[in-house]
Amino acid sequence: MTALANEYGAINLSQGFPEFDAPDYLKQQLSEYVAKGLNQYAPSPGVPKLLDQIERLIESRYQVKVNGTSQVTVTAGATEALFVAIQTIISQGDEVIVFDPAYDSYEPAIELAGGKAVHIPLVAPNYRIDWQQVNANITSKTKAIIINTPHNPSAKVLDLDDFAALKKLLVAHNLLLISDEVYEHITFDQKSHLSALNDPEIFARSFVVSSFGKTFHSTGWKLGYCVAPEQFSQEFRKIHQYVTFSCFTPAQYALADMLEKHIEHVNELSEFYQAKRDALIDALQTSRFKLLDSEGTYFLLLDYSEISSLSDIEFCHYLVKEVGVAAVPLSVFYHAPNNDKVIRLCFAKETQTLMEAAERLCQL
Ligand code: PMP
Repeated sequence: MTALANEYGAINLSQGFPEFDAPDYLKQQLSEYVAKGLNQYAPSPGVPKLLDQIERLIESRYQVKVNGTSQVTVTAGATEALFVAIQTIISQGDEVIVFDPAYDSYEPAIELAGGKAVHIPLVAPNYRIDWQQVNANITSKTKAIIINTPHNPSAKVLDLDDFAALKKLLVAHNLLLISDEVYEHITFDQKSHLSALNDPEIFARSFVVSSFGKTFHSTGWKLGYCVAPEQFSQEFRKIHQYVTFSCFTPAQYALADMLEKHIEHVNELSEFYQAKRDALIDALQTSRFKLLDSEGTYFLLLDYSEISSLSDIEFCHYLVKEVGVAAVPLSVFYHAPNNDKVIRLCFAKETQTLMEAAERLCQL
């Protein structure tokens, strides 16, 4: 869609990356560490100063004490963390439960490990997980469940009931959990993010994945991390060693400084994105789209069923070419054919960009 948006000069609300820059302080620190000559390999698990700061961040956000040195590994984005976690636990013939719409990197990583993704489709407009259905899909081959909260693309967050049901299944069937929490700091309307880190019994069988790209508007730096119990981390690190060995050193120092000196950036992120979400929702009030609830992430889903009977892929092509706005069709996040008439907009954009896009969408 981004290629099409460029070709047709459309406003690009398709791909999920911020239009604004990383914080000045973070950029300054990066330049400084490069100039100072911190340009050689970092320790494989991560620069100790950054591991310490991640430990502090987790304590301040979730009131949970993890050990940065033995339980946190810095990775080349959340994508590497997900890939390595999957290679760590999945063997030939293992099944992994994945909820559709799903982020696209899960299944290829599962297949490379010799496993099989078992897809459970979530349904518009609420995209709630039916835990009885999950139970019915568990077999003797099921090894793990992958969750993503706040969820891309549905913009829903899991609640306490979800975690209670999840825990029951993990314990009853002795399963592992990969918890993709890259949007952990972006939730709305006083809803707080519940992490797999919050519950010791869940964390004891989990790999929790996060991304600095989402938090610090720096998706191009490709830095993230995985938090897991010590024994899991040891196994995880054996694979990380041969995937990247270590990650971009000066950026690790810069991120450690950012977390130490400017934690307010993290604490204010929800408010920052909520203002953008609300501006976009307001601007779309007079449109014929039905807006679905956005509880977290920087995505908003629109139901266009009252506007067009085109498939979502056809409708997105029409939007780019005729209306000048690029969006993502939800069906591409599903394994099985999906006929919902829903598209995803990314609102990690300047307010002016959002207003212009909304004006175009309101003309439909
Ligand atoms: N998980 C989800 C749900 C995502 O949306 C993304 C980024 N689009 C990632 C993982 C990957 O994050 P990173 O860029 O840090 O690899």
